Amino acid sequence: MSDPAAIPPTPTPPLSQAGAASRAGEPPCHSAELLVHLARLVHGGETDTSLTPAQWTALRYFASANRFSRTPTAFSEFHATTKGTASQTVKSLIGLGLLQRRAHDSDGRSALIEVTEAGQDKLRRDPLADLTRCIRALPDARRREFLSTLTELGGALARMRTAPTFGKCGDCGHCDTSGGAGAYCRCTQEMLDGTEMQSICVDFAQGAPRLR
Ligand code: SF4
Repeated sequence: MSDPAAIPPTPTPPLSQAGAASRAGEPPCHSAELLVHLARLVHGGETDTSLTPAQWTALRYFASANRFSRTPTAFSEFHATTKGTASQTVKSLIGLGLLQRRAHDSDGRSALIEVTEAGQDKLRRDPLADLTRCIRALPDARRREFLSTLTELGGALARMRTAPTFGKCGDCGHCDTSGGAGAYCRCTQEMLDGTEMQSICVDFAQGAPRLR
């Protein structure tokens, strides 16, 4: 019997080559299938089924996106769907009284989408809460590693799809905290408050050089 320690490890291809590997007829990837399965499992069992998974995603998105990102177009990019489909989802939630349109502070021609009080109330029964609890039950180090892995995978897939990567100011290359008077966004040329620093943003740029 051969010594398992003598078998050289199979080299892992860089993420940039992952697409080529799958096209070459690699066997199914259990991790990829498990991720899709987890996403479906979120809406199974005794969860609130009064909204579709797309409507839940939209409600969650508008509750956690910053003022530069609370538009149907930005949501269509986040949800990887067409502008028309995203717009229909938003309209349906406005019709249910869970979202509302509000005039943009600086641009009267455009509108921002906000979550209503009824929408906030609905989010207290968000089916994603169970998966959130499962993740928070992991030890800190494993949770950080898991987040880092998901972030890397999200970035790699977004590059393959030429799609934006959503993220928060603290990790963004446009965020400038060198002035000492709070954080400044060099992309939108606006000052950022503490709440916005914790919100997700369509203009997020992980690769850009960051000023501190
Ligand atoms: S610093 Fe980055 S994440 Fe924050 S608002 Fe600006 S572009 Fe968005």
